[in-house]
Amino acid sequence: MTSNALRRLPSVDALMNTPAAADLCDEYGREAALDSLRTILQNTREQLKAGQPAAVEADALLAQAAQTLAERFLPTLRPVINAIGIIIHTNLGRAPLSTAAQQAISEAAGQYSTLEFNLDDGKRGSRLRHASDLLVEVTGAEAGLVVNNNASALVLILSALALGKEVIISRGQLVEIGGGFRVPEVMEQSGAKLVEVGTTNRTRASDYARAVTPNTALLMRAHYSNFKVIGFTEDTPLHEMAAVAHQHGLLLVDDVGSGALLDTAAYGLEHEPTVQESLAAGCDLVAFSGDKLLGAPQAGIIVGKKALIDTLKQHPLARAIRADKLCLAGLTATLDHYRRGEATIQIPVWRMIAMPLTELQARAQQWADVTGGQVIAGESAVGGGSLPGETLPTALLALTVESPDAFAARLRQSRYPVIARIARDQVLFDPRTVLPGQDEPLLATIQACR
Ligand SMILES: *Cc1c(COP(=O)(O)O)cnc(C)c1O
Repeated sequence: MTSNALRRLPSVDALMNTPAAADLCDEYGREAALDSLRTILQNTREQLKAGQPAAVEADALLAQAAQTLAERFLPTLRPVINAIGIIIHTNLGRAPLSTAAQQAISEAAGQYSTLEFNLDDGKRGSRLRHASDLLVEVTGAEAGLVVNNNASALVLILSALALGKEVIISRGQLVEIGGGFRVPEVMEQSGAKLVEVGTTNRTRASDYARAVTPNTALLMRAHYSNFKVIGFTEDTPLHEMAAVAHQHGLLLVDDVGSGALLDTAAYGLEHEPTVQESLAAGCDLVAFSGDKLLGAPQAGIIVGKKALIDTLKQHPLARAIRADKLCLAGLTATLDHYRRGEATIQIPVWRMIAMPLTELQARAQQWADVTGGQVIAGESAVGGGSLPGETLPTALLALTVESPDAFAARLRQSRYPVIARIARDQVLFDPRTVLPGQDEPLLATIQACR
């Protein structure tokens, strides 16, 4: 029986001569198709020799090859549906971009561009000019600079302005932001000497003033964006820090973190410090991320005094951490939404923050009608190192299934993975972070996984 089956097993040449194999060659390349068929034949032979049943028909073997090739060629970086309800989720790629930003990126990606080219005189231009005028316009700063991300922006600032010198920071702000990003380690990496003042819960202006020495370069504030200090606390207001810094001829640098340009308090949230407020309080430089509350691609943005920005631009590190053209294209298109006053309509993270509860309830109800689940009240979070502990009321689709963990795993392992939340033995889906156009694939995936 085994030897009979072995004899019926087609040769790799016979399989390669079928139309199905030709399709696999077209799709994945001849090498990969051949390799896959050889492996499948080898495995089948071993199974038969071991006395195990195995399919030997050409169709079955080719179908196996199609399946393994499809899995092997699936990209590891691919879109998912965020049904968790955390708007800026670092593990899921932070801010989704506006349509205009996506289009700008696509154009810059597929064509030549004016990246470093001046159309007036046909000579070399600067890649930094694309975002800098817009940054000045929307933040009111004297000048702006874009680099790879906020962590690198801070390294650049400290390397250029505080190398071998002292930087004074409150003990309460020596924080880890997540993903191993620790403010003190970043500061030390840049060759600045950290001088800690105050206590974990209280730091006063006089603490900063007392720590100033002839070797001090600057005072720094790091927004502790991912946790809350409550109770007996006192943070020195930025304008008081600015007064201390400027009395001593020093600089004040603010790592404001999430880069809000709009007031989150308008949407029932606590007020997240804005870039404009830091500048108005007298900060000389303000650094923030592009892909958090700004709603742009990954970037580190520095705005502030023109002379300082010029110094930063000329530092060798600036070249090493420069922003790429796709980032600049997406960032300028995003900043343009702020300039036009349409940020809350066009930028997905702000649209999600502003989404009315009635709309969320209606969508959750539609999902419940299709899936037979219930609609329950719940909470969404902003995430991304902003507004810790703050939530927005939402409506959730709640599904009761046999094994929530196994169901959530099937959702994740689908072709268009769905990332859901589990609470109180139910699987929960938050419409707030499910993008327009994702309802249909979401529901199809839910139904297929049950
Ligand atoms: C997120 C964050 C950073 C790191 O920014 P990246 O753009 O991820 O490098 C630094 N500081 C604060 C306060 C943050 O919230």
